[in-house]
Amino acid sequence: MANLKLKQINKIYDNGFHAVKDFNLKIEEGEFIVLVGPSGCGKTTVLRMIAGLETITDGELYINDSFMNHMAAKDRDIAMVFQSYALFPHLTVYENISFPLKINKLSREEIHNKVKEVSEILEIESLLNKKPSTLSGGQKQRVALGRAIVRKPKIFLMDEPLSNLDSNLRTQMRIEISKLHSKLDATFIYVTHDQIEAMTMGTRIVIMEDGKIQQIGTPQEVYENPNNIFVARFIGSPSMNILDGIVVVNEEEIQLKVSIGEDNEDSAKYIKIPKTQQDVLKINNYINKRIKIGLRPESIEVSADWDFNTFKAYVTMVERVGLDTYIYFDIHGDNCCVKTTNINNDIKIGDYISFYIDKQKTYLFDYETELRII
Ligand code: ATP
Repeated sequence: MANLKLKQINKIYDNGFHAVKDFNLKIEEGEFIVLVGPSGCGKTTVLRMIAGLETITDGELYINDSFMNHMAAKDRDIAMVFQSYALFPHLTVYENISFPLKINKLSREEIHNKVKEVSEILEIESLLNKKPSTLSGGQKQRVALGRAIVRKPKIFLMDEPLSNLDSNLRTQMRIEISKLHSKLDATFIYVTHDQIEAMTMGTRIVIMEDGKIQQIGTPQEVYENPNNIFVARFIGSPSMNILDGIVVVNEEEIQLKVSIGEDNEDSAKYIKIPKTQQDVLKINNYINKRIKIGLRPESIEVSADWDFNTFKAYVTMVERVGLDTYIYFDIHGDNCCVKTTNINNDIKIGDYISFYIDKQKTYLFDYETELRII
Protein backbone atom coordinates (compact mmCIF):
# COMPACT_ATOMS: atom_id res chain seq x y z
CA MET A 1 0.00 0.00 0.00
CA ALA A 2 1.06 3.57 -0.41
CA ASN A 3 0.33 7.04 0.84
CA LEU A 4 0.54 10.06 -1.41
CA LYS A 5 1.07 13.74 -0.87
CA LEU A 6 0.25 16.35 -3.51
CA LYS A 7 1.61 19.69 -2.38
CA GLN A 8 0.59 22.91 -4.08
CA ILE A 9 0.47 21.19 -7.49
CA ASN A 10 -0.14 23.31 -10.59
CA LYS A 11 -0.39 22.33 -14.23
CA ILE A 12 -0.03 24.85 -17.01
CA TYR A 13 -0.14 23.24 -20.46
CA ASP A 14 2.19 24.40 -23.25
CA ASN A 15 -0.56 26.56 -24.73
CA GLY A 16 -0.69 28.49 -21.44
CA PHE A 17 -3.90 26.87 -20.14
CA HIS A 18 -3.88 26.64 -16.36
CA ALA A 19 -5.62 23.28 -15.86
CA VAL A 20 -4.82 22.51 -12.19
CA LYS A 21 -4.47 25.23 -9.57
CA ASP A 22 -2.82 24.88 -6.14
CA PHE A 23 -3.93 21.30 -5.64
CA ASN A 24 -3.22 20.04 -2.10
CA LEU A 25 -4.18 16.55 -1.00
CA LYS A 26 -2.87 13.92 1.41
CA ILE A 27 -3.98 10.37 0.67
CA GLU A 28 -3.57 7.73 3.36
CA GLU A 29 -2.67 4.11 2.67
CA GLY A 30 -5.59 2.05 1.42
CA GLU A 31 -7.95 4.97 0.82
CA PHE A 32 -10.41 5.03 -2.05
CA ILE A 33 -10.22 8.64 -3.22
CA VAL A 34 -12.62 9.84 -5.90
CA LEU A 35 -11.86 12.98 -7.91
CA VAL A 36 -15.17 14.29 -9.17
CA GLY A 37 -16.28 17.35 -11.07
CA PRO A 38 -17.69 18.48 -14.41
CA SER A 39 -15.95 17.83 -17.71
CA GLY A 40 -12.74 19.84 -18.11
CA CYS A 41 -12.23 20.61 -14.40
CA GLY A 42 -8.77 18.98 -14.39
CA LYS A 43 -9.42 15.52 -12.87
CA THR A 44 -7.62 13.54 -15.56
CA THR A 45 -4.71 15.97 -15.52
CA VAL A 46 -4.22 15.32 -11.78
CA LEU A 47 -4.35 11.55 -12.35
CA ARG A 48 -1.86 11.73 -15.21
CA MET A 49 0.57 13.79 -13.12
CA ILE A 50 0.39 11.14 -10.37
CA ALA A 51 1.01 8.42 -12.97
CA GLY A 52 3.97 10.30 -14.45
CA LEU A 53 2.28 10.66 -17.84
CA GLU A 54 2.17 14.43 -17.52
CA THR A 55 4.80 16.77 -16.11
CA ILE A 56 4.10 18.81 -12.99
CA THR A 57 4.52 22.52 -13.75
CA ASP A 58 4.85 23.51 -10.12
CA GLY A 59 4.45 21.80 -6.75
CA GLU A 60 5.57 18.51 -5.24
CA LEU A 61 4.38 14.93 -5.49
CA TYR A 62 5.38 12.38 -2.85
CA ILE A 63 4.63 8.67 -2.80
CA ASN A 64 5.48 7.00 0.51
CA ASP A 65 7.35 10.17 1.42
CA SER A 66 9.65 9.94 -1.63
CA PHE A 67 9.78 12.90 -3.99
CA MET A 68 8.33 11.66 -7.29
CA ASN A 69 8.11 14.64 -9.65
CA HIS A 70 10.82 13.32 -11.95
CA MET A 71 10.44 9.56 -11.45
CA ALA A 72 9.69 7.68 -14.70
CA ALA A 73 6.10 6.40 -14.99
CA LYS A 74 7.20 2.76 -15.14
CA ASP A 75 9.08 3.05 -11.85
CA ARG A 76 6.17 4.41 -9.81
CA ASP A 77 4.49 1.04 -9.10
CA ILE A 78 1.17 2.37 -10.28
CA ALA A 79 -1.46 0.72 -12.49
CA MET A 80 -3.87 2.78 -14.52
CA VAL A 81 -7.26 1.73 -15.92
CA PHE A 82 -8.83 3.85 -18.65
CA GLN A 83 -12.33 4.36 -19.94
CA SER A 84 -11.21 2.99 -23.32
CA TYR A 85 -9.94 -0.31 -21.79
CA ALA A 86 -6.75 -0.04 -23.91
CA LEU A 87 -6.62 -3.81 -24.51
CA PHE A 88 -4.39 -5.26 -27.22
CA PRO A 89 -6.83 -6.44 -29.91
CA HIS A 90 -4.56 -9.13 -31.38
CA LEU A 91 -3.93 -10.81 -28.02
CA THR A 92 -6.28 -13.15 -26.13
CA VAL A 93 -7.63 -12.24 -22.70
CA TYR A 94 -5.01 -14.50 -21.14
CA GLU A 95 -2.23 -12.79 -23.09
CA ASN A 96 -3.59 -9.33 -22.29
CA ILE A 97 -3.64 -10.04 -18.56
CA SER A 98 -0.25 -11.72 -18.55
CA PHE A 99 1.37 -8.97 -20.62
CA PRO A 100 2.76 -6.90 -17.70
CA LEU A 101 4.10 -10.08 -16.08
CA LYS A 102 5.91 -11.11 -19.25
CA ILE A 103 7.54 -7.71 -19.41
CA ASN A 104 8.69 -8.25 -15.84
CA LYS A 105 10.10 -11.63 -16.96
CA LEU A 106 8.18 -13.86 -14.57
CA SER A 107 8.31 -17.62 -15.14
CA ARG A 108 5.59 -19.42 -17.08
CA GLU A 109 4.30 -21.06 -13.94
CA GLU A 110 4.21 -17.82 -11.96
CA ILE A 111 2.36 -16.14 -14.80
CA HIS A 112 -0.11 -19.00 -15.01
CA ASN A 113 -0.84 -18.87 -11.27
CA LYS A 114 -1.29 -15.13 -11.19
CA VAL A 115 -3.58 -15.01 -14.22
CA LYS A 116 -5.63 -17.81 -12.69
CA GLU A 117 -5.94 -15.95 -9.38
CA VAL A 118 -6.96 -12.69 -11.03
CA SER A 119 -9.42 -14.31 -13.41
CA GLU A 120 -11.09 -16.02 -10.45
CA ILE A 121 -11.40 -12.73 -8.56
CA LEU A 122 -12.99 -11.07 -11.60
CA GLU A 123 -14.93 -14.16 -12.71
CA ILE A 124 -13.53 -14.17 -16.22
CA GLU A 125 -12.05 -17.70 -16.30
CA SER A 126 -14.27 -18.67 -19.23
CA LEU A 127 -13.03 -15.75 -21.34
CA LEU A 128 -9.30 -16.42 -21.19
CA ASN A 129 -8.98 -17.75 -24.76
CA LYS A 130 -11.14 -15.07 -26.37
CA LYS A 131 -10.03 -11.97 -28.25
CA PRO A 132 -11.22 -8.54 -26.95
CA SER A 133 -13.34 -7.90 -30.07
CA THR A 134 -15.65 -10.78 -29.08
CA LEU A 135 -16.31 -9.43 -25.56
CA SER A 136 -19.03 -7.16 -24.20
CA GLY A 137 -18.13 -3.76 -22.70
CA GLY A 138 -18.41 -5.08 -19.16
CA GLN A 139 -16.22 -8.09 -19.96
CA LYS A 140 -13.59 -5.86 -21.58
CA GLN A 141 -13.57 -3.63 -18.53
CA ARG A 142 -13.05 -6.66 -16.28
CA VAL A 143 -10.10 -7.76 -18.43
CA ALA A 144 -8.64 -4.25 -18.23
CA LEU A 145 -9.00 -4.42 -14.43
CA GLY A 146 -7.40 -7.86 -14.49
CA ARG A 147 -4.40 -6.56 -16.37
CA ALA A 148 -4.08 -3.74 -13.84
CA ILE A 149 -4.33 -5.84 -10.69
CA VAL A 150 -2.19 -8.77 -11.82
CA ARG A 151 1.04 -6.93 -10.95
CA LYS A 152 -0.27 -6.10 -7.47
CA PRO A 153 0.76 -2.45 -7.65
CA LYS A 154 0.59 -0.20 -4.61
CA ILE A 155 -1.61 2.36 -6.31
CA PHE A 156 -4.50 2.07 -8.76
CA LEU A 157 -5.51 5.02 -10.86
CA MET A 158 -8.82 4.71 -12.69
CA ASP A 159 -10.04 7.26 -15.20
CA GLU A 160 -13.80 6.98 -15.77
CA PRO A 161 -13.50 3.21 -16.16
CA LEU A 162 -17.27 2.67 -16.28
CA SER A 163 -18.41 5.41 -18.60
CA ASN A 164 -18.76 3.14 -21.64
CA LEU A 165 -21.08 0.75 -19.84
CA ASP A 166 -24.88 0.78 -19.68
CA SER A 167 -26.45 1.72 -16.39
CA ASN A 168 -27.10 -1.82 -15.08
CA LEU A 169 -23.56 -2.88 -15.79
CA ARG A 170 -22.20 0.31 -14.27
CA THR A 171 -23.99 -0.46 -11.01
CA GLN A 172 -22.66 -4.01 -11.05
CA MET A 173 -19.09 -2.93 -11.84
CA ARG A 174 -19.26 -0.21 -9.18
CA ILE A 175 -19.83 -2.94 -6.62
CA GLU A 176 -17.09 -5.10 -8.19
CA ILE A 177 -14.54 -2.30 -7.96
CA SER A 178 -15.48 -1.54 -4.36
CA LYS A 179 -15.09 -5.25 -3.54
CA LEU A 180 -11.77 -5.28 -5.33
CA HIS A 181 -10.62 -2.39 -3.21
CA SER A 182 -11.42 -4.26 -0.01
CA LYS A 183 -9.70 -7.42 -1.31
CA LEU A 184 -6.49 -5.79 -2.54
CA ASP A 185 -4.15 -3.97 -0.23
CA ALA A 186 -3.90 -0.92 -2.43
CA THR A 187 -4.67 2.77 -2.60
CA PHE A 188 -7.29 3.67 -5.21
CA ILE A 189 -7.65 7.03 -6.94
CA TYR A 190 -10.69 7.14 -9.17
CA VAL A 191 -11.84 9.85 -11.57
CA THR A 192 -15.46 10.36 -12.52
CA HIS A 193 -17.91 13.11 -13.36
CA ASP A 194 -20.71 11.00 -11.90
CA GLN A 195 -21.60 12.05 -8.37
CA ILE A 196 -23.38 8.76 -7.70
CA GLU A 197 -20.19 6.83 -8.41
CA ALA A 198 -18.31 9.25 -6.19
CA MET A 199 -20.80 8.98 -3.33
CA THR A 200 -21.06 5.20 -3.42
CA MET A 201 -17.41 4.27 -3.93
CA GLY A 202 -15.20 6.88 -2.32
CA THR A 203 -13.96 6.76 1.24
CA ARG A 204 -13.26 10.45 0.56
CA ILE A 205 -14.32 12.63 -2.34
CA VAL A 206 -12.42 15.55 -3.85
CA ILE A 207 -14.78 17.88 -5.67
CA MET A 208 -13.14 20.02 -8.35
CA GLU A 209 -14.26 22.92 -10.48
CA ASP A 210 -12.19 24.88 -12.95
CA GLY A 211 -8.86 23.33 -11.84
CA LYS A 212 -9.46 24.03 -8.16
CA ILE A 213 -10.48 21.84 -5.24
CA GLN A 214 -13.84 22.98 -3.93
CA GLN A 215 -14.10 20.52 -1.05
CA ILE A 216 -12.58 17.32 0.31
CA GLY A 217 -14.56 15.05 2.60
CA THR A 218 -16.36 11.78 3.14
CA PRO A 219 -19.52 11.36 1.05
CA GLN A 220 -21.62 12.16 4.10
CA GLU A 221 -19.61 15.28 4.96
CA VAL A 222 -19.87 16.81 1.51
CA TYR A 223 -23.57 16.00 1.33
CA GLU A 224 -24.42 17.35 4.77
CA ASN A 225 -21.95 20.21 4.99
CA PRO A 226 -21.20 21.59 1.52
CA ASN A 227 -18.74 24.51 1.51
CA ASN A 228 -20.46 26.40 -1.26
CA ILE A 229 -23.30 26.36 -3.78
CA PHE A 230 -21.23 24.52 -6.37
CA VAL A 231 -20.65 21.53 -4.05
CA ALA A 232 -24.19 21.73 -2.69
CA ARG A 233 -25.65 21.43 -6.17
CA PHE A 234 -23.11 18.95 -7.52
CA ILE A 235 -23.69 16.39 -4.75
CA GLY A 236 -27.19 14.98 -4.36
CA SER A 237 -29.81 14.08 -6.92
CA PRO A 238 -31.97 15.88 -7.87
CA SER A 239 -29.80 18.92 -7.11
CA MET A 240 -30.28 21.19 -4.14
CA ASN A 241 -32.80 23.97 -4.80
CA ILE A 242 -31.37 27.47 -4.55
CA LEU A 243 -33.75 30.35 -3.85
CA ASP A 244 -33.19 34.07 -3.38
CA GLY A 245 -34.09 35.42 0.02
CA ILE A 246 -33.54 38.15 2.59
CA VAL A 247 -32.48 37.56 6.18
CA VAL A 248 -34.68 38.97 8.93
CA VAL A 249 -33.93 38.23 12.59
CA ASN A 250 -36.33 38.75 15.47
CA GLU A 251 -36.29 37.85 19.15
CA GLU A 252 -36.95 34.15 18.76
CA GLU A 253 -35.85 33.09 15.36
CA ILE A 254 -34.06 33.74 12.11
CA GLN A 255 -36.49 34.37 9.32
CA LEU A 256 -35.67 34.03 5.66
CA LYS A 257 -37.97 36.07 3.54
CA VAL A 258 -38.67 34.43 0.21
CA SER A 259 -40.73 36.01 -2.52
CA ILE A 260 -43.02 33.67 -4.36
CA GLY A 261 -45.30 34.24 -7.29
CA GLU A 262 -45.94 37.92 -7.97
CA ASP A 263 -43.29 40.42 -7.04
CA ASN A 264 -45.08 42.16 -4.20
CA GLU A 265 -45.02 42.25 -0.42
CA ASP A 266 -48.11 40.05 -0.08
CA SER A 267 -46.49 37.19 -1.86
CA ALA A 268 -43.48 37.07 0.51
CA LYS A 269 -43.19 34.00 2.67
CA TYR A 270 -40.91 33.25 5.58
CA ILE A 271 -38.80 30.19 6.32
CA LYS A 272 -38.19 30.32 10.05
CA ILE A 273 -35.03 28.76 11.40
CA PRO A 274 -34.62 28.19 15.14
CA LYS A 275 -32.05 30.69 16.38
CA THR A 276 -28.85 29.31 17.91
CA GLN A 277 -26.16 31.58 19.30
CA GLN A 278 -23.68 30.27 16.75
CA ASP A 279 -26.01 30.90 13.82
CA VAL A 280 -26.70 34.44 14.98
CA LEU A 281 -22.98 35.22 15.03
CA LYS A 282 -22.59 33.87 11.52
CA ILE A 283 -25.64 35.62 10.18
CA ASN A 284 -24.99 39.00 11.83
CA ASN A 285 -23.52 40.61 8.74
CA TYR A 286 -26.38 39.49 6.58
CA ILE A 287 -29.38 41.00 8.33
CA ASN A 288 -31.72 42.64 5.80
CA LYS A 289 -29.40 41.56 3.00
CA ARG A 290 -29.93 39.23 0.09
CA ILE A 291 -28.73 35.68 0.50
CA LYS A 292 -29.18 32.39 -1.33
CA ILE A 293 -31.20 29.70 0.41
CA GLY A 294 -30.42 26.04 -0.24
CA LEU A 295 -33.09 23.38 0.19
CA ARG A 296 -32.59 19.75 -0.73
CA PRO A 297 -35.53 18.21 -2.60
CA GLU A 298 -35.81 15.70 0.24
CA SER A 299 -36.25 18.44 2.85
CA ILE A 300 -39.37 19.84 1.23
CA GLU A 301 -42.62 17.97 1.77
CA VAL A 302 -45.91 18.17 0.00
CA SER A 303 -48.42 19.19 2.65
CA ALA A 304 -52.12 18.57 3.06
CA ASP A 305 -52.37 21.76 5.14
CA TRP A 306 -52.86 25.24 3.73
CA ASP A 307 -51.74 27.39 6.62
CA PHE A 308 -49.37 30.35 6.91
CA ASN A 309 -46.38 27.98 7.27
CA THR A 310 -46.84 26.39 3.90
CA PHE A 311 -45.81 27.57 0.44
CA LYS A 312 -48.04 27.20 -2.56
CA ALA A 313 -47.15 26.82 -6.22
CA TYR A 314 -48.26 25.40 -9.55
CA VAL A 315 -46.72 22.08 -10.56
CA THR A 316 -44.69 22.40 -13.78
CA MET A 317 -43.54 18.79 -14.12
CA VAL A 318 -43.85 15.41 -12.40
CA GLU A 319 -41.33 12.58 -12.73
CA ARG A 320 -41.99 9.18 -11.20
CA VAL A 321 -38.73 7.29 -10.69
CA GLY A 322 -39.35 3.95 -9.00
CA LEU A 323 -40.49 4.60 -5.46
CA ASP A 324 -39.70 8.32 -5.67
CA THR A 325 -41.72 11.07 -7.26
CA TYR A 326 -40.04 14.35 -8.19
CA ILE A 327 -42.43 17.28 -8.33
CA TYR A 328 -41.17 20.47 -10.00
CA PHE A 329 -42.59 23.95 -9.59
CA ASP A 330 -41.50 27.59 -9.84
CA ILE A 331 -40.87 29.88 -6.93
CA HIS A 332 -40.47 33.41 -8.16
CA GLY A 333 -38.79 32.24 -11.34
CA ASP A 334 -36.53 29.72 -9.62
CA ASN A 335 -37.15 26.14 -10.61
CA CYS A 336 -37.68 23.99 -7.55
CA CYS A 337 -37.96 20.25 -6.96
CA VAL A 338 -39.56 18.22 -4.17
CA LYS A 339 -38.67 14.58 -3.72
CA THR A 340 -41.44 12.52 -2.23
CA THR A 341 -41.54 8.78 -1.67
CA ASN A 342 -45.30 8.60 -1.88
CA ILE A 343 -46.04 6.80 -5.15
CA ASN A 344 -49.75 6.83 -4.55
CA ASN A 345 -50.06 10.56 -5.03
CA ASP A 346 -51.87 11.66 -8.15
CA ILE A 347 -50.28 15.09 -8.44
CA LYS A 348 -50.07 16.28 -12.03
CA ILE A 349 -48.86 19.24 -14.08
CA GLY A 350 -50.94 22.36 -13.43
CA ASP A 351 -52.04 21.34 -9.90
CA TYR A 352 -51.78 24.04 -7.25
CA ILE A 353 -50.06 22.38 -4.29
CA SER A 354 -49.06 23.30 -0.80
CA PHE A 355 -45.70 22.32 0.59
CA TYR A 356 -43.78 22.54 3.78
CA ILE A 357 -40.07 23.19 4.31
CA ASP A 358 -38.08 21.24 6.88
CA LYS A 359 -36.44 24.26 8.46
CA GLN A 360 -33.80 22.18 10.29
CA LYS A 361 -32.24 21.43 6.93
CA THR A 362 -32.04 24.89 5.42
CA TYR A 363 -28.69 26.08 4.08
CA LEU A 364 -27.70 29.75 3.67
CA PHE A 365 -25.11 31.01 1.20
CA ASP A 366 -23.48 34.39 0.60
CA TYR A 367 -25.17 36.00 -2.40
CA GLU A 368 -21.92 37.08 -4.06
CA THR A 369 -19.26 34.54 -3.07
CA GLU A 370 -21.75 31.64 -2.87
CA LEU A 371 -19.86 30.37 0.21
CA ARG A 372 -21.93 28.69 2.89
CA ILE A 373 -22.92 30.84 5.88
CA ILE A 374 -24.90 28.29 7.90
P1 ATP B 1 -13.20 15.11 -18.62
O1 ATP B 1 -14.14 14.64 -17.55
O2 ATP B 1 -13.91 15.76 -19.78
O3 ATP B 1 -12.18 14.10 -19.01
P2 ATP B 1 -11.29 16.41 -16.86
O4 ATP B 1 -11.86 17.02 -15.64
O5 ATP B 1 -10.64 15.10 -16.71
O6 ATP B 1 -12.39 16.36 -17.99
P3 ATP B 1 -8.82 17.29 -18.02
O7 ATP B 1 -8.80 16.25 -19.09
O8 ATP B 1 -7.87 17.15 -16.91
O9 ATP B 1 -10.30 17.47 -17.45
O10 ATP B 1 -8.60 18.70 -18.73
C1 ATP B 1 -8.61 19.89 -17.97
C2 ATP B 1 -8.49 21.05 -18.91
O11 ATP B 1 -7.21 21.06 -19.51
C3 ATP B 1 -9.51 21.01 -20.05
O12 ATP B 1 -9.99 22.31 -20.26
C4 ATP B 1 -8.69 20.55 -21.23
O13 ATP B 1 -9.18 21.09 -22.43
C5 ATP B 1 -7.31 21.08 -20.92
N1 ATP B 1 -6.26 20.21 -21.48
C6 ATP B 1 -6.12 18.89 -21.31
N2 ATP B 1 -5.02 18.41 -21.96
C7 ATP B 1 -4.45 19.49 -22.54
C8 ATP B 1 -3.29 19.68 -23.36
N3 ATP B 1 -2.48 18.66 -23.66
N4 ATP B 1 -3.02 20.93 -23.77
C9 ATP B 1 -3.81 21.97 -23.45
N5 ATP B 1 -4.92 21.88 -22.69
C10 ATP B 1 -5.25 20.65 -22.23
